[in-house]
Amino acid sequence: MPEQVAEMLKKAQRIQSKRKKGSANRNRQRIIIARVHERVVNQRDDFLHKLSRHYVNGYGLIALEKLNITNMVKNHHLAKSIMDASWSKLTQMIEHKAESAGVRVIRVSARNTTQRCSQCGTIVPKSLAVRMHRCSTCGFIADRDYNSMLEILNRALGREPPESTPVEIGPLLMSNHGQARSWKQEVPSSEPVRV
Ligand SMILES: [Zn+2]
Repeated sequence: MPEQVAEMLKKAQRIQSKRKKGSANRNRQRIIIARVHERVVNQRDDFLHKLSRHYVNGYGLIALEKLNITNMVKNHHLAKSIMDASWSKLTQMIEHKAESAGVRVIRVSARNTTQRCSQCGTIVPKSLAVRMHRCSTCGFIADRDYNSMLEILNRALGREPPESTPVEIGPLLMSNHGQARSWKQEVPSSEPVRV
């Protein structure tokens, strides 16, 4: 979605750059760009509100990766900055809604959540193209995002263990209601982003 948005804006901006400076046509194009921006932001916010509501209503504990603000500021790719801004907004919405709903939100370090085996802690290096996590130490094989989710949830529970009995991580994550949910925002860091 961010790529489509970026394409749309880039096209509008390309048209604008061809228009003569100070001309009525250029000004009209500027207004079109502003409207595209506005529509995109409104649609995105609407979606993020629904999404955050969905999770806050459905789960008693939400584990999130901490945002890497330094990278966000440094980042000059339009598509990626839109993605980062959306992620930031979504997590803010979740925290805001969670607070009034009495849902717990725990932020964990994002470091190595993709590489680390959620079952034994071994670092299993993988590029973004590798979609499966295969741990040769303990034999755990899972979708990379699923492994990351388990790892994020592990960290959240490890820092602040629940008051009650030990938690069964697997079934807890798989269930859809009233339990826990963890999250992984995955963005290519080394690969070029088309804008
Ligand atoms: Zn392992």
